[in-house]
Amino acid sequence: MDFADAKERVESLHQQLLEHNRRYYVLDDPIISDAQYDQLMRELIQLEAEFPELQTADSPTQRVGAEPLPFFEKVEHTTQMLSLGNAFNQEDLIEFDKRIKKATGLDQITYVCELKIDGLAVSVRFEDGIYKLGATRGDGQIGENITQNVKTIRSLPLKLAEPLTLEVRGEAYLPKKEFERINNQRAEKGEPLFANPRNAAAGSLRQLDPKLAAERALDLFFYGMDGESVETFATHQETLQSIRKLGLKVNPEWKVAQNIDEVWGYIEHWQLERSNLGYEIDGIVIKVDEYALRKELGFTAKSPRWAIAYKFPAEEAVSILEDIELRVGRTGVITPTAILHPVVLAGTTVKRASLHNEDIIREKGLLLGDHVVVKKAGDIIPEVVKVITSERTGKETAFHMPTHCPECDSELVRLEGEVALRCINPACAAQIREGIIHFVSRGAMNMERLGEKVVIQLFEHKLVSSIADLYYLQENDLLALPRMGAKSVGNILASIEKSKRNSLERLLFGLGIRFVGSKGAKMIAQHFETMDAIVEATEDDLLAVEEVGPKMAESIVTYFAKPEVKELLNRLKKANVNMSYTGPKVRTNATEHPFAGKVFVITGTLDSMTRQEAAERLEQLGAQVTNSVSKKTNYLLAGEKAGSKLTKAQDLGVTILDEKAFLANISL
Ligand code: NAD
Repeated sequence: MDFADAKERVESLHQQLLEHNRRYYVLDDPIISDAQYDQLMRELIQLEAEFPELQTADSPTQRVGAEPLPFFEKVEHTTQMLSLGNAFNQEDLIEFDKRIKKATGLDQITYVCELKIDGLAVSVRFEDGIYKLGATRGDGQIGENITQNVKTIRSLPLKLAEPLTLEVRGEAYLPKKEFERINNQRAEKGEPLFANPRNAAAGSLRQLDPKLAAERALDLFFYGMDGESVETFATHQETLQSIRKLGLKVNPEWKVAQNIDEVWGYIEHWQLERSNLGYEIDGIVIKVDEYALRKELGFTAKSPRWAIAYKFPAEEAVSILEDIELRVGRTGVITPTAILHPVVLAGTTVKRASLHNEDIIREKGLLLGDHVVVKKAGDIIPEVVKVITSERTGKETAFHMPTHCPECDSELVRLEGEVALRCINPACAAQIREGIIHFVSRGAMNMERLGEKVVIQLFEHKLVSSIADLYYLQENDLLALPRMGAKSVGNILASIEKSKRNSLERLLFGLGIRFVGSKGAKMIAQHFETMDAIVEATEDDLLAVEEVGPKMAESIVTYFAKPEVKELLNRLKKANVNMSYTGPKVRTNATEHPFAGKVFVITGTLDSMTRQEAAERLEQLGAQVTNSVSKKTNYLLAGEKAGSKLTKAQDLGVTILDEKAFLANISL
């Protein structure tokens, strides 16, 4: 980029960031995600580094927050309330660590890691131990006086344990449950919803009616002290402990790390566990522990050099809807899929998102060529959240669902009471292919080495046209496929062979009988024990099984009456595919076991099984497994690295079982 282009881009970024700052800090109503904001900011930082003459004093890279709202009394902070530098990956953290080591000349630095609570920063002043003032950060120098609103936060003591004069800093936030409650209430009243708990917390504190703030169960974690009082401490650890002793709430998850690897371990742990917290966090804050070192390191215009905020990967991003592709599922349902301009989301590149059905395209008002917000929660498939209509140019075009199957061209139908369009041609190649993909999948026959791509190849080369064909594949058939080596072929054949020994429920689910899910298949297999018994079962026999309703029973009987299904089962039997239930036996009298009727929560990592397996085992014994610890929880099964659930269970006096005790008890 030459200087003129850079200048133009810098000016445009200034304008965009200023407007986003105003919407975020002043109006508490952002229109882009934090990750997108961070991306724009990073671009500006890079351009200013490349062309230093383009950096101005009023650049958004040099300023904290925004000015206070005019209708609040202004508060001048005794020491500035700054922002934090950002890290987005492990390399950024290693760089941070290197910078600190270089500046201090030390080769080992002790850090304190804390959760980065997604709320808004507040400064609270106590005089002779009595609550005097609550203020927002504002532009870092001058904040807004929100003393009355902060006073409504129930966990804030109005008197400290000691008569000290000091200023403490923390993050005010709304617990997730309270955020949902407020938004539900607003939806009922037809009021606009808050985009996230951070905006809701800010909106509750930055308004003039303390009654409104009091109605919302805001909370507050303190993470630092300022002014003279902090000078009595040598480290941040001591400060946190002292804040807590004074009666102020400190988030209990903070941890000392002796090097950057330990910091990374803490980050990885919380990346996985964050969804189990009762409040939102958007990252981890890493701070140098020793104050003497902090003094040496100092500050930039905007942030301390001795701390950094690691931001979790984005879970929302903007992309362009380039096309809508139609996929015919194994039951003939036509599912539209959004084809997106590639965008990085939560660490992976997203190019597609399911749109579920035609109604969703209409409800969201999607046009081809639209800018759309894409969201990804955990490892769930990405979804299109909404259209950004303000980005429309007029060139976008409407999408129309076809009248005929895109694979076999037979006419599509909409069955009564269903939203989805369906292809009802049983010979439709797409349905057969998708049925085979389902058969080999993890939840069904679990042929680990035989992925979707290979199944498609096998199908296209006409080597497999029914699930039974998989068991008659020869080494040479597979070797003839493009890009297929002897080792892969060996692995594929081994996983096909291994699947022959699966217990009956996997096969039953794998057949893809309508309405038979994995749970239903398991109950039926446990009940009838052999495939022959299921084939012979009447609708009434099937209805005797828990989980089986009239629709499922009818579908099973109709399925097994088909001659082609009889032929299929014969070929599977001939290939020695197991047709019996070999899983654990159900206790006929579950109430006998001491765990029957008890409520369990499972946390941490178990050695001998996954959490899912432990839950299944407990359910077989008649116990109930839930996600969060409450007064109703009877037992917490705690594996290695158990986190906040363990602390909560200890607080509530819930019985804690380690893995050894659990194993001893389940074999009773
Ligand atoms: P920041 O959020 O990156 O970090 C600083 C803040 O972290 C502190 O002020 C404090 O409030 C908070 N914090 C939470 N837990 C903490 C802890 N344990 N210790 C210390 N601090 C803790 O910086 P910022 O200046 O407050 O905000 C900038 C960020 O805000 C951007 O990176 C972006 O994510 C977001 N933003 C978004 C938009 C938008 O339009 N979406 C606009 C402006 C800013």
